[in-house]
Amino acid sequence: KTWHQTGLTTKLLEIIKKLNYEKPMPIQAQALPTIMSGRDCIGIAKTGSGKTLAFVLPMLRHIKDQPLVVAGDGPIGLVMAPTRELVQQIHSDIKKFAKSIGVRCVPVYGGSGVAQQISELKRGTEIVVCTPGRMIDILCTSGGKITNLRRVTYLVMDEADRMFDMGFEPQITRIVQNIRPDRQTVLFSATFPRQVEILARRVLSKPVEIQV
Ligand code: AMP
Repeated sequence: KTWHQTGLTTKLLEIIKKLNYEKPMPIQAQALPTIMSGRDCIGIAKTGSGKTLAFVLPMLRHIKDQPLVVAGDGPIGLVMAPTRELVQQIHSDIKKFAKSIGVRCVPVYGGSGVAQQISELKRGTEIVVCTPGRMIDILCTSGGKITNLRRVTYLVMDEADRMFDMGFEPQITRIVQNIRPDRQTVLFSATFPRQVEILARRVLSKPVEIQV
C-alpha cells in the first residue's frame, strides 16, 4: 500500500513526505482506511509498530471537518494514555503535523508545567492528550472552567492494557461517561486480556478489529 491509498489530505501527505515516511507501516495501512471511514476500531499493536500515526492522522482529518475551536471550548480529539512519558511522546508526534495545519494540542499530566497546560487549555485546543487521573483532576477542581468534554467526538485509548495494569479503569469509565455517545472511538492495546475486551465492548460500537 502507498500513502496515496490511505485517503489522507494533500497537506498531511506533504508533511509525511517531508518526514521521510516512505510507506505506511502495516498497522497504518490497515487502520487508516477503517478509521477514516468513521468506524470504531480496536488495534492490537505494540510500541514501534507505528500505531500512533494510525490514530493521529484520522484525528487530524476529523478535526478539520469541525467548526473552529474558540477560547472556552473543550477539545474535539481526546487521547488517553497510561503514563506521562507516553503522553509526551504522542504529543510530540502530533506536533510534527498539527502546527502547519493550524491544530493545537495540549498534553495533560501531573508534575511540572501544569500552569502552562491550564492556560493553554483555557485558550481552547483541538486536541488533548492526557493521563486519565490528571484529566479528571483538571475537569473536577475547576468545575469545567478550565476545559470540558462537550465537544469531544474522537476518543482514543492508547495502551489500554497498561492503563488497566496501572489501575486507571475507574477514571477511564468516568471520562467516557461524560463524552457524547455519537463519537468515534479507537482503542489500541499491545495485548487483549479479558478486562480490556469488556471495556471495549462497553465503550466502542461495532468496532473493526485489526491485529498486526
Ligand atoms: P509508534 O509505534 O507509533 O511509537 O511509532 C514508532 C516510530 O515509527 C516513531 O518514531 C514514528 O515516528 C515512526 N514512524 C511512524 N510511521 C512511520 C512510517 N510510515 N514510516 C517510517 N517510520 C514511521
